[in-house]
Amino acid sequence: MVDFQNSKTKNTVRQSCESLLVIEDVCTFYGDAQALKDICLTVKNNEIVAVLGSNGAGKTTLLKTLTGLLGIQRGKIVFNNETITDTPSHKIIRKGIACVPEGRQLFGAMTVSDTLLLGTYSLDKDERKKMQGARLEMIFDLFPVLRDRVNQASETLSGGEQQMLALGRALMSNPKFLVLDEPSLGLSPLLVKEMMNMLKLISRELGISILLVEQNARAAIKIADYIYILERGEVTLANTAQKVMASEKIQSAYLGA
Ligand code: ATP
Repeated sequence: MVDFQNSKTKNTVRQSCESLLVIEDVCTFYGDAQALKDICLTVKNNEIVAVLGSNGAGKTTLLKTLTGLLGIQRGKIVFNNETITDTPSHKIIRKGIACVPEGRQLFGAMTVSDTLLLGTYSLDKDERKKMQGARLEMIFDLFPVLRDRVNQASETLSGGEQQMLALGRALMSNPKFLVLDEPSLGLSPLLVKEMMNMLKLISRELGISILLVEQNARAAIKIADYIYILERGEVTLANTAQKVMASEKIQSAYLGA
């Protein structure tokens, strides 16, 4: 039987190691409705952390809070040893956090190359110039299909190609940290597997830490180092992927075993 510690205790333990992101007692509301309740979560350098939860658990709200799209009522967010609570989105990107939003959020008529270049617009002029050359080549090496479709409108790409484009756009800003909201949504099992393998590769080869929000627990657990389970706006379980995999409770609730 796996012994899951209370998430707050667990977070304190994890914070003593090298942390890139620390979310501490964060509460987010929509009007009077509380969507996040005292969330504590840590992501260490070079780690992939998955946040799992069913519909309405608060996963998207957590990412919107982290990326400055929603203000918080209580709590603190520290990234790279700097407090970023209440920092607006455009400044958060400059600090090295890039987001692949739910549903990809591409502009359908925009070409593949323009979409990728859009990912650099939050950077200052010199860095943008640097990114637009070598970085673009790196994205094409990671996703050769995007090179083949470079002048094609993004709406003409397949679902899997669009997901690669959204990921490529996020990587163009040269992030230290990547957050993804349900990247597996609408993809076939084979493409989900490819996408997850790609995230693992990106994390390992580019040294980028990842926070992955997923309903597809089975796919996310395979690549994650650490798992948080979110239920009705609260972290109910936090542990290593290995221990979560071994839990019968999680197997039956999230893995359909
Ligand atoms: P899903 O997997 O279905 O996308 P989720 O885990 O991402 O779900 P959220 O979208 O974060 O969940 O929603 C968390 C809670 O906040 C839900 O109860 C939802 O109804 C509520 N909520 C989300 N957006 C708003 C909003 N703009 N106004 C009011 N309530 C909202």
